[in-house]
Amino acid sequence: RLIVFEGVEGCGKTTQLQRSYQWLKPSFPVIVTREPGGTHLGSDLRQLLLNIPEQPIYNSTELLLYAADRAQHVEELLKPELANGTMILCDRYVDSTMAYQGYGRGLSRSLIEQLNTIATGGLESDLTIWLDIDVAVSLARKQQHTSDRVPRSTGGDRIEQEKIDFHRRVQQGYTELAQANPQRIVRIDASYSEAEVQEQIQQILMQRFPE
Ligand code: C5P
Ligand code: MG
Repeated sequence: RLIVFEGVEGCGKTTQLQRSYQWLKPSFPVIVTREPGGTHLGSDLRQLLLNIPEQPIYNSTELLLYAADRAQHVEELLKPELANGTMILCDRYVDSTMAYQGYGRGLSRSLIEQLNTIATGGLESDLTIWLDIDVAVSLARKQQHTSDRVPRSTGGDRIEQEKIDFHRRVQQGYTELAQANPQRIVRIDASYSEAEVQEQIQQILMQRFPE
């Protein structure tokens, strides 16, 4: 089973995914992975995508690098592990590309859908958990943590506002994706405490996969 965690930066995806992993581990063969960066090639791509480049990365280049990371991830890790009967908890998958590159950066959504199909070979998640949180709250949370993302630009009210607007568009993307895919995507209110959010996730996992 492929279970994906999605949401804007600072929504608590990684934390909740790790907690779910600890909870599931005694009972199931389960692994944790992420995009970008779930394979050896993918970690190089992640570096390229998330560090400040000397030259700007164009939107279409960025899109293709995320797709390349995914194609490798699906073939090298996801498909073989699923074939082994391993449960996979994945930090981001196709909805991230739609939300960030589609809604966020304004690239063609129908092209992204096709690209996602190429990259995944049609492999869909069995469940996608969307941790929904107000963008202002998540960005504030993110400031308190350090991540491996080096911001592409810092300082300046205009740049800050652009950043917030970008994340609002991404958030809108998740909202629309969840509405369009009510079976696959489950929304969780991530404004609650870490323990409460984990409780909700465990309830959903038990409902969906009772055995
Ligand atoms: O939060 P996480 O470590 O998964 O995100 C890595 C970074 O990559 C985040 O800053 C996120 O905004 C960005 N990203 C993106 N487009 C994607 C996936 C992630 O811009 N398709
Ligand atoms: Mg994270």
